[in-house]
Amino acid sequence: MSNAHSKAIVYGMPNSDLKTVEINGQEITVHKEVVKPLTQLLGQLDNDGLTTNVVSHWRSFDHQCSIWTAKWQGKRTLLDRNECPLQTEALSNEQKFDALCFWSAIPGLSRHHWGTDFDIFLAKPMAEGYQPQLIPSEFSSEGPAASLEVWLDKHLTDYAFYRPYQDGFSGVSPEPWHISYYPVATEMLKKVEATEVASLIKHSKLPEKNFIVERLERYIADYVEKVAPLP
Ligand SMILES: [Zn+2]
Repeated sequence: MSNAHSKAIVYGMPNSDLKTVEINGQEITVHKEVVKPLTQLLGQLDNDGLTTNVVSHWRSFDHQCSIWTAKWQGKRTLLDRNECPLQTEALSNEQKFDALCFWSAIPGLSRHHWGTDFDIFLAKPMAEGYQPQLIPSEFSSEGPAASLEVWLDKHLTDYAFYRPYQDGFSGVSPEPWHISYYPVATEMLKKVEATEVASLIKHSKLPEKNFIVERLERYIADYVEKVAPLP
């Protein structure tokens, strides 16, 4: 694999390993090796009466830049670790960075760049008008995704998916809705290099680029590599 190609795959550049396919009536962009296992997983959920939507799939570097920038500038809600909204203008760069990292990845370092990771939510409450916020309380025993949580706990790893963001294991907030096809994702994680991300960020329109670049190595150790162990 050429260096340029491997960069494209890991850091969210459109590339030939990505396929856009229709699964359960949804258009999903996914790594070519994940089409089959994702189809099987969603098919079984459907058979078991728990039809599930993919609410977030492959995400480009540019898309991640727009999420990060909107939260940094206070144009999109930034939460603290207890799910309470923060007033961004009152925060130092350091405080904003800490809050942001807990919920969102630095562009170039999102697992959603790989085509192996997806955010999922039950279709039924969504069809009834519920808008998922993707916060842990939704997957608690009282939450609208409680039945999905029970199913995932029992069956997710049968499909070689797992949940990398778990309480006590990950630097990122627990994300019970975020699933990862680990046979491919593990290979992607090994390819991540701070110097490559630094060069992409320097060429981007992100705010406070130098501030971010100085913190990349630390961020990779604390958030990207610090995920739950494989099942
Ligand atoms: Zn996610």
